[in-house]
Amino acid sequence: MDFLPIFLDIRSRPCLVVGGGEVAARKVELLMRANAAVTVVALEIGRSLVRYRDAGRITHHARAFQPADIDACALVIAATDDEAVNREVSRRCRERAIPVNVVDVPPLCSFIVPSIVDRSPVVVAVSSGGSSPVLARILRLRLETMLPAGYGKLARLAEGFRERVKRRFSNTVQRRRFWERVLQGPVAEMMLAGQERAARLAVEVALQQGTFSSLSSGEVYLVGAGPGDPDLLTLRAVRLMQQADVVVYDRLVTQEILDLAHRGAERIYVGKACGEKSLSQEQINAILVRLARQGKRVLRLKGGDPFIFGRGGEEADALAEQGIPFQVVPGVTAASGCSAYAGIPLTHRDYAHSCVFVPGHMKDGGEINWRALAQPAQTLVVYMGLRSVRPICERLIAEGLAAATPAALIQNGTTRSQVVLIADLASLPGKAASLDMGPPSLLIIGEVVRLHQRFAWFASADAAQESARRAVG
Ligand code: SAH
Repeated sequence: MDFLPIFLDIRSRPCLVVGGGEVAARKVELLMRANAAVTVVALEIGRSLVRYRDAGRITHHARAFQPADIDACALVIAATDDEAVNREVSRRCRERAIPVNVVDVPPLCSFIVPSIVDRSPVVVAVSSGGSSPVLARILRLRLETMLPAGYGKLARLAEGFRERVKRRFSNTVQRRRFWERVLQGPVAEMMLAGQERAARLAVEVALQQGTFSSLSSGEVYLVGAGPGDPDLLTLRAVRLMQQADVVVYDRLVTQEILDLAHRGAERIYVGKACGEKSLSQEQINAILVRLARQGKRVLRLKGGDPFIFGRGGEEADALAEQGIPFQVVPGVTAASGCSAYAGIPLTHRDYAHSCVFVPGHMKDGGEINWRALAQPAQTLVVYMGLRSVRPICERLIAEGLAAATPAALIQNGTTRSQVVLIADLASLPGKAASLDMGPPSLLIIGEVVRLHQRFAWFASADAAQESARRAVG
């Protein structure tokens, strides 16, 4: 190890930055975040430093560096573009054993500034020892995505209970177990999902009872898996996938996404397979309730967004009724995913004033009000409409939409096998049939579909796309 990582308390301590440009400003900001008393010495300072000075947050001396500037400093950073000045600052500091950093010149530094992931009070610092700041930054970004934004709140929770937990469990092994349960289990998840009161209550109960049962009760995560491309998962979805004990998923969830779940997690398929009868919604609800009752962390993984034609509402209802804790994680819905990957801006204001999502058919065979939907300057997105694509198009024409209204049918949107068929209301059904398009497919109707020609940026690997292009001619 070339450098010893330490965390330095510089609150209210005098710190000096020599230099007034952008680089200096970034260092000043860092020192301010650690609540240092910052002085800047530079003939001129840039805009952000002027702002900090005018706000009284830093002191500025508009002159050249003088040796006495480093008197009583806790640390010094040199960020000028004058090599001689940087060198002198470094030498003077070293003579007096004051920690000094010269930005981007490792040989002149007695300390280096790491890349930081700030989840205060939790802070992760990454350093490549000056060998490759870019590498350190890349690593930092990875850590950024791994550490939930609310991680600091967990530390505050622990801080608040620390003394009481110490008194409650005199045995250090027991105490450690207790904290492991709190910081990795459902309590942590509640904190991160913003359910702070419930989290504190669970810790309270565990402390009073002296058992861990309130820390390991089962719960359900209703998670949107997006339209297919695993890159479109939210950070929270990925994190929950890695800690769930069991994953309950259906047909729309791709294998690539499922592969991201924790290896040891049990997987339960509740979708429809060819020829088989699918489980009823009541049966699926019952499975979720039963698993959670067994104390498991259940990840209910659903295509797209759980609350958009995903029956997430029905599942949440069943869980709420049974008093089972749950959280809902939104996902990219098919309309957003497919339109983005097909280059169709759903509400481009030159073409559409509104956008409506409708199902191709209703739950109990009820009627959809197609007359109300046949509006100009409106984009219509039809989920589950593949089988009825012909009656839908014919009906919209009958209700007054022009037969030449552009329409797109997008199959397997956002995946490598995405197929985009572009036509108009009159010709789309015939072309879709001749291409033998299958599920899942999304129908988009409206003038915005024209923009596909200009904005199609995503090239799928599938030959079917080629034939779709030929079909359009
Ligand atoms: N909750 C989901 C929708 C479930 S309904 C969501 O928010 O996206 C199922 C319908 O979604 C399918 O019939 C199809 O119309 C649409 N769909 C879902 N994923 C799709 C995809 N990758 N490509 C095209 N259509 C998709």
